[in-house]
Amino acid sequence: MPANPGIWGDGSGAYSPTLMDGELIATATTLIEARSDDSKHTVAAAARAAGGQIITGVNVSHFTGGPCAELVVIGQAVTEGAGELVEIVAVGDQQRGVLSPCGRCRQVLADYFPEIRVIIPTGTEPRSVAIAELLPWGFS
Ligand SMILES: [Zn+2]
Repeated sequence: MPANPGIWGDGSGAYSPTLMDGELIATATTLIEARSDDSKHTVAAAARAAGGQIITGVNVSHFTGGPCAELVVIGQAVTEGAGELVEIVAVGDQQRGVLSPCGRCRQVLADYFPEIRVIIPTGTEPRSVAIAELLPWGFS
């Protein structure tokens, strides 16, 4: 049971890992919109830790292969001692909305947090899926 169950899922107070955490989308959207004039930071990610805490980060664009926002969030979660991450979303700048994680991020997320859920775009409404659905037969 998360420490702060009232902020999970549909707001009913009952956490369900199958419910999408809309607060994560709102948090990442607010963050990237605040950086909309910055061409080096074009994606924000927000993740929920098992204790309820939200961790955020932005990508670090660089020709040497700067990290995606999801990877920055993982580092920030460790920095803050947030522990296990249970759900994550990335949102693009300039109203691009929810973005699907790249292949590298899928592999890292699966290796670090095998039970994490990822909010992805579907063409209509975003939905939350298990990382295993995004990386079937991944490298191990
Ligand atoms: Zn990535």
